[in-house]
Amino acid sequence: MAEFDLAIIGAGLAGCSLAGRLAQLNSPFNIVVIEAGRGPGGRTASRRRRDDINWRVDHGAPGFSLSKPLPPDVETLLEPLRISGTLQRDSRPVIGVDEQGGVVPATGAAAPTGGWWHGVPCMASICEQLLPMDPGLKTQFGTRVRWLDHRDGLWWLADENRGWSISARRLVLSGSLLAHPRSLAMLAWSDVPLRSAVRAGVDPQLDEVLHHLQNSQSAVRWNLMLDLGHVNSDQQDLPRQIWLTEAARKRWQVERLVVHPQSDGRIALVVHGLDGGEAITPESQPALMKQKERELQHCLPELLRCIPALQHALTKSTSLGVMRWGASQPLDHPLPTRLQWCSSSAVGFCGDWIEGPGFGTAEAAIRSGVELAERLQDAS
Ligand SMILES: Cc1cc2nc3c(=O)[nH]c(=O)nc-3n(C[C@H](O)[C@H](O)[C@H](O)COP(=O)(O)OP(=O)(O)OC[C@H]3O[C@@H](n4cnc5c(N)ncnc54)[C@H](O)[C@@H]3O)c2cc1C
Repeated sequence: MAEFDLAIIGAGLAGCSLAGRLAQLNSPFNIVVIEAGRGPGGRTASRRRRDDINWRVDHGAPGFSLSKPLPPDVETLLEPLRISGTLQRDSRPVIGVDEQGGVVPATGAAAPTGGWWHGVPCMASICEQLLPMDPGLKTQFGTRVRWLDHRDGLWWLADENRGWSISARRLVLSGSLLAHPRSLAMLAWSDVPLRSAVRAGVDPQLDEVLHHLQNSQSAVRWNLMLDLGHVNSDQQDLPRQIWLTEAARKRWQVERLVVHPQSDGRIALVVHGLDGGEAITPESQPALMKQKERELQHCLPELLRCIPALQHALTKSTSLGVMRWGASQPLDHPLPTRLQWCSSSAVGFCGDWIEGPGFGTAEAAIRSGVELAERLQDAS
């Protein structure tokens, strides 16, 4: 069985920032990154299509804001991405829509002070560039870790059927799935894997982490993806994002619409649908997905009245289905940074659920990965 110095679970912005920053610090660690998805990106992944090789849709975050100034080590991590053009300012228009379907100025989270940044050609490109900063790094995609065990000074990781397994001296969780009770109902798991791996009372710091997470909640999003084909409008004239006002959200149960031009001129539309609080289990999921798809499609003609070219394109659009983000953004109980590394169990945490500027956003994910890298490097 392969043995590593460090196993990072999750190849989203936090896990990739951790790996990328460790590489910049010339870390001696032999690292493996394990990711349930087919490629890197996590909630900044870009959806592909088997029948259409050039298709890429930012079906999670379409961009993010960055504070000014950023900590110098975060700037150092991002500098190569800015130089290569993978991370760029997004100056395409962001507009608001009110409950009558009229255009209003975008405000609040839709209009961050420092503007929007995005990945080019797509959001996944950011993580795709961060990972190879360490040429020796091993990646394992399409594998969801289900079982964790901590014994003899090693972490043992395995997938659901225990057909794949590895061991590592240190473990980092960049998502909260293995530590949060939400996995019990959603994945029909009988236990919280991290709790089973280190029993209560063995590591008080880890107990505090698990207690903290237990109370944390996240927003759910149901994102409908549509191929609108070629739209009768210059791409430059289309907004990148259309944010609904509070009253409009109440009316249509939608947070925003994202317009994603494709390399061949077609337009993809992503509708960020709000959650109605329906309980979800593996059994109820398929029917709920269909229901959400119908509801979101139904409100679009009214919602897009202010952009006739997009409204017209709906008539010949193809639905590419709904993606459910069970934890699209954490809402409360940020994990204190002092708990980011539990040295006695050799387990650490990074992600947008760690406290700090931009909590719940891409910025927090990047910052937390960079901060943890510095701590691991200092301790090595
Ligand atoms: C619809 C949507 C809209 C958003 N809009 C914005 C926005 O406008 N601005 C903004 O700043 N942020 C936005 N966000 C939030 C932003 O995407 C996240 O804050 C950021 O991407 C989090 O990165 P992360 O690395 O912490 O987590 P993730 O990207 O979730 O990465 C964690 C990774 O771990 C993997 N993983 C978890 N458990 C396991 C396991 N057991 N085995 C294997 N792999 C595992 C997951 O598959 C995932 O890829 C949005 C998110 C969503 C979903």
